[in-house]
Amino acid sequence: MLVRYWVCLFVCLFIMPIGYAADLIIDNQFSSSKPLHFHYTLSNAALAEVVHLNRESWHQSTDGTLNLGLQDQPTWLHFSLSNPTNIDKQLYLLLAHPLIDSVTLFQSHNNALRQFDSIGDREPLKNRQIKDEALIFSITLKAKATDQFFVKVNSEGNIKLPLSLWTPEALVQNKSKYNLITGIFLGFLLALVLSNALLFALTRKSRFLLGACYIASLWALLTVVLGFSYRYFNFNYQWFQTINIALLFLSATLLLNQLTERLLQLKSEFKKLLRILRVIFVSCCIALLFLPWMSYANGLALSLYTSAINLVICFIVCAFLSFKQHRYARLLTIALASHLFAVIFSLAVFNGHDAFLPDMPKMLMGTFFISSMFISYLLIQQFVDRRDFKIHRQQQLLAEAKIKDNLQLETIKLQQDMEEDLERRIQEHTFELQVTLRELEDKNRELEEKNTLDALTGIRNRSYFDKKLTMEFRRSHREETPLAVIMLDIDHFKKINDSIGHLAGDDAIRFVANSIQYCLKRPSDEVCRYGGEEFAIILPNTDTEGAILVAQAIRQQINAQPVQTVAGVVNMTISAGVFSAIAQRQQEPSQYTAFADKALYQAKHQGRDQVCSFEHPIPSQSE
Ligand code: GH3
Ligand code: MG
Ligand code: MG
Repeated sequence: MLVRYWVCLFVCLFIMPIGYAADLIIDNQFSSSKPLHFHYTLSNAALAEVVHLNRESWHQSTDGTLNLGLQDQPTWLHFSLSNPTNIDKQLYLLLAHPLIDSVTLFQSHNNALRQFDSIGDREPLKNRQIKDEALIFSITLKAKATDQFFVKVNSEGNIKLPLSLWTPEALVQNKSKYNLITGIFLGFLLALVLSNALLFALTRKSRFLLGACYIASLWALLTVVLGFSYRYFNFNYQWFQTINIALLFLSATLLLNQLTERLLQLKSEFKKLLRILRVIFVSCCIALLFLPWMSYANGLALSLYTSAINLVICFIVCAFLSFKQHRYARLLTIALASHLFAVIFSLAVFNGHDAFLPDMPKMLMGTFFISSMFISYLLIQQFVDRRDFKIHRQQQLLAEAKIKDNLQLETIKLQQDMEEDLERRIQEHTFELQVTLRELEDKNRELEEKNTLDALTGIRNRSYFDKKLTMEFRRSHREETPLAVIMLDIDHFKKINDSIGHLAGDDAIRFVANSIQYCLKRPSDEVCRYGGEEFAIILPNTDTEGAILVAQAIRQQINAQPVQTVAGVVNMTISAGVFSAIAQRQQEPSQYTAFADKALYQAKHQGRDQVCSFEHPIPSQSE
């Protein structure tokens, strides 16, 4: 490289024509800065040839912000500076477009090359005399001298040439102000990136990560456009400079596409619109894959055009939904419009049609500020809305659960009440039933009792006698105690009936029953009406002698008292048969009745009014 320039220098010194008029006079009036007007021509020629080009080949720049768009050959600039004062002047030549690949400045004085420098974002940072994000040449103008300047500009991107001349003090002052403003702005964007990243870390919602990446890509894009990226980060990777703008533009668009999809909730509500955005997204992704293999100009064109198409479609979808009163669509439309404007604006700058547009960095800062602010706001608003909705839903569910619980409790209480009522009723019924059963039992017992009683005399009847005899028979056998049975019959009772009537006969029977009861002293003794005017007496634990004594006592008792009947007083006698023995296993209870009856028969046979035992009939003893 150096050799080539030295060759140029020699050629220059001998053939460089003289007589260029001074474009700018740097006298004592020049105290801060001035835009620099210059002549320019497009030529592949070397310096030696360029200096010989005739005046017609050179064009005059109309203002300080000439933008020639994309050029496939180098651009040569020429201007001269004159210092009429007596002191040397130190000046800075500023090219405020940091994306120019390479700028070489040749300064000659009196046909002698005074200095040449080559700087740009494809040149090493160490080449820069002034380490700044913008392209700055330091120029010394000797006193009373006019210097010629030739500048060769090479760039794959658009050739934008905002040239200006500064005093060192003015440039430092301007730079510090400019750096403060851009620093605050980039810091603000970084704060938005961090807050979105933080929200992602806290909520684990991928939309916040997308938001953080989107704003980070805008931030990175701005650092590249403003020259900070080259100045501070990738000055050693000039290759990266060729693709980073295209890459960042396309990445930001892709991220915005994804954010649009999420913020508009297309997945759940608008499947067709989602399909359209997905198709665009995939085609942009394919475009992204081609970028590393494309030239800077082609890559940037591809990136900007695909971004513009993508954003226009996103914008239409969003505008359509905002027309349909979608909650987030209106603000998102603004964000998309702002970003789309940035892309269209960049396309205009890229193609050299920005003569009437404001400065590109300012424009990008403005549009990116709007889109990043709105996106962050929408992300937070949507998150808050969803959380509120969740809380509301949970409260609803809680209220419903409470109502259900209350209903359940009421049902349980009702069930308990019913169960208690049922239990109470059952208890009442059971009690009533028990009472009824007891009454029934009493009635039964009463009935049974009645069944065992003789209606006429009120003493036990024949059926009771049979049971009682069986019971006492077993006891006698068990305890080996004697059991006595007396069979007792009123003598000639038929005559009484016949003479004084049946009612009087009944009185007589009742009288005999009472007399027998009167004579029985032991509680275990029992008299029963055996049938007609016959009585049977059971005397447990009584031997034959005892039984005879009892029978005699009865007989005497009846003999002794005349009977008062309805028909008058009647004298009666009775006959009795006694049998007593310890019950034997082989015997039957009925044998006791049979033996006593036999004894009674014997007493009747022997003349009545006497007591006979089964073995030893006892003659009657008149009193
Ligand atoms: P004997 O001395 O041999 O016992 O003579 P009797 O008349 O007592 O003998 P019999 O057994 O033939 O007569 C019993 C009579 O008793 C028959 C019946 O008219 C009478 N009789 C039986 N049961 C009742 C009763 O419940 N009331 C009355 N008034 N008479 C009865
Ligand atoms: Mg009889
Ligand atoms: Mg009789």
